[in-house]
Amino acid sequence: MPIQHSKSNRLTPRKLEGSCQCGSVEFTLQSHTPVPYQLCTCSICRKLGGYIGAVNLGGIAESLHITKGKDMIKYDPTHSVHLPPLAPTRACGSIHLTRNSGTSMSIPSTDFVSRKYSAIKNRGTADEEVCSSERNFCSNCSTMLWLWDRQWPELIHPFASAIDTELPVPDEMVCVMVGSKPAWARLPEGKKSVHELYGEDSIEQWHKRHGLFVE
Ligand SMILES: [Zn+2]
Ligand SMILES: [Zn+2]
Repeated sequence: MPIQHSKSNRLTPRKLEGSCQCGSVEFTLQSHTPVPYQLCTCSICRKLGGYIGAVNLGGIAESLHITKGKDMIKYDPTHSVHLPPLAPTRACGSIHLTRNSGTSMSIPSTDFVSRKYSAIKNRGTADEEVCSSERNFCSNCSTMLWLWDRQWPELIHPFASAIDTELPVPDEMVCVMVGSKPAWARLPEGKKSVHELYGEDSIEQWHKRHGLFVE
């Protein structure tokens, strides 16, 4: 299905539907940036996502609606103790998020509290740290569903692999964190840009530069 165009020829926000492999979890969200163009080959994405890495999309955090299986989403309470001061706090059944700018927003706690894995970066080295991002999984089949980062609480990043809606086919791939992948993990065929660390563009900037941002 192509990106929907409205009468004014502007792109309309795109509803994405997703699920885990066993079918216990289903969810929907709205996205301005639905093109699965960016492949991250860092060790976290390779180990958690399988094979050469993970592709995540950009979505609107507030629009995430878990339509089935909230209780199935994996909960790892041991990581909550590592959260730095920017961590969400509970208030009246919702999470109150305060950003560096001082602005804040509330998100229903059922969507975001304690259903996550905060990955460990540089595990076993002097630079070891717990990531600010949280990956959410189905506790039955371990499908990686989405990533949320308290540094950008208004955004949510569903993994393309968990999305069932047909997505636009990217003309090019942007392969990031390639410096940390083993040689055997071959990058996709076709047009691509390859980055040792990250590319210049955020997911939003890339979509805007390619005229694919869905207003
Ligand atoms: Zn599942
Ligand atoms: Zn990664």
